[in-house]
Amino acid sequence: RRAVPEIAIPARLAFERVSLSFAAHAAINDVSISVNAGEILCLLGPSGCGKTTLLRIAAGIETQDAGRVVIDGEEVAGATRTLPPEARGVGLVFQDYALFPHLTILDNVRFGLRGRPAAEAARMARTALERVRLGHYAGHYPHHLSGGEQQRVALARALVPGPRVLLMDEPFSGLDRRLRDKVRDETIAVLGEAGITAVVVTHDPEEAMRIGDRIALMRKGRLVQLGAPEELYRHPVDIEAARFFSELNEVAGRVEGGLVVSVLGRVPAPARLKDGDEVVVAARPHDMRLSSAGIGTPGRVVSRRYLGEVDRIEVAVAGLAAPLEVRSVEIGRFSVGDSLFIDVPPERLHIFPDGMRAGTTP
Ligand code: ATP
Repeated sequence: RRAVPEIAIPARLAFERVSLSFAAHAAINDVSISVNAGEILCLLGPSGCGKTTLLRIAAGIETQDAGRVVIDGEEVAGATRTLPPEARGVGLVFQDYALFPHLTILDNVRFGLRGRPAAEAARMARTALERVRLGHYAGHYPHHLSGGEQQRVALARALVPGPRVLLMDEPFSGLDRRLRDKVRDETIAVLGEAGITAVVVTHDPEEAMRIGDRIALMRKGRLVQLGAPEELYRHPVDIEAARFFSELNEVAGRVEGGLVVSVLGRVPAPARLKDGDEVVVAARPHDMRLSSAGIGTPGRVVSRRYLGEVDRIEVAVAGLAAPLEVRSVEIGRFSVGDSLFIDVPPERLHIFPDGMRAGTTP
């Protein structure tokens, strides 16, 4: 068994063509993801898409049917061998923190160092607690701590043996909304200071954008898209990926003379489309600009809700069955009944083949 270093040396983690079925159900279907050393990668997707299963395969709690897991060039699970969880140099943080209620905070962290001499383990546990700024709670019990603090104890316990990779499963979902932002930021700071490679599971796109250097979007056991947050938000690979990140206005369009024509205007057609193709033209509500006189699609305001940072405005447009939704930072500028124009910058229009309408994504 390898001696686990006290200070993390960030490692590259790779899933190579990993599959795993439960009975006949493919929970993970041919997934390849490479996580760079020191990177925070978010596994994002709806419930049941396989995020937790993939994390458990990396940890060694589940074993894949096909493919392999490689950490820094070393196969930890594959055709040649399968290392047990404790020999992989990975740390785990669960959604519910899984702290022992009858152990002090220090002993909870020390639990991550089973097998070490007691004095050394205590010293390392204290250092880890200070790293997450909880040194003063060493002698307290978990129930004395807030949810956010307990989460940091779980983080310290996972980091204390110096894992090469940290795996976190929905680590913030047990926290209420106001606390969550703060704890997320603290966690990112701790991960950054530790310089560790981390994979964080979440079903929340906003959270994934907030914490991930890159995001792996999953659906039904498959990897759909992998890239920086901006890449996924601005250039979704399909309409479901686009919908996953925000509300989406969708209108029918058609390719004519090399242009995509819809009520949202005329823009050059992507190369993969040909004249006569039916398409869906989509735009995010806050990518739509409103003006009272000028260019764009004419419409009329049918509702306005003040949401704090933006107005949510619904605009009826001739030829569309449902109003378009717009988010405007010009609070109070438009009211119900106003006639106006909607303009969307061409690069903010997302164009997809019509076969990708709701529920029909291949
Ligand atoms: P959630 O956010 O709800 O946890 P997830 O994306 O993490 O979802 P998984 O928990 O990985 O999804 O589950 C993926 C699929 O595999 C689901 O359909 C689930 O029911 C199934 N599954 C997971 N573990 C097992 C198991 N041990 N036995 C049978 N089916 C399982």
